[in-house]
Amino acid sequence: MKNNQEVHCDKCGREVAKLKYLKKVNEGFLCGKCIKENRAKHREFLRREVLKIPKRSDLLKEWAEKRKVREKEQERLRKIYGDAKPEIKSSKKDKLKINTLGLYLTKDERLFLYKKLVQGENPLSSEEANKRIKNLTEQMKILIEDLRNKVKTPLEFRKRFDEGFARLIMEIENEV
Ligand SMILES: [Zn+2]
Repeated sequence: MKNNQEVHCDKCGREVAKLKYLKKVNEGFLCGKCIKENRAKHREFLRREVLKIPKRSDLLKEWAEKRKVREKEQERLRKIYGDAKPEIKSSKKDKLKINTLGLYLTKDERLFLYKKLVQGENPLSSEEANKRIKNLTEQMKILIEDLRNKVKTPLEFRKRFDEGFARLIMEIENEV
């Protein structure tokens, strides 16, 4: 038994005020901090070695490793097959996501077209003009859907939409 004159932890050597602050374990008399550390180590040992729970950092490493292997394999296939490499296509997934905001006629544009249609050299009736504008809107919708399936990039979409739109407007203007 230790006497009260030399109350220090047998592991870290830290002095404590009273013997009761040390705890007797196999290693000797240890301070609270060392006891806590030992317990944490033991818990860690149980988790990793007995229960075989992997560390999160180990898991992340493993995932990164797997991803690297997958990318290498894809690169290898690309080198062999080039662009001819068969791809599993899901038509819905391959559809270009397009923000259709601003692709339809605005109220002002409709009004402009309407005026043009009813005031031209061969003026249309109000009913006919409205029908023509409604038809144009429908054609724009079809154009957007059609391009959505055909083009791969928003830039290409924009270019081809503008072309298609100009063509639609020209058709209307030629009729007027
Ligand atoms: Zn200690």
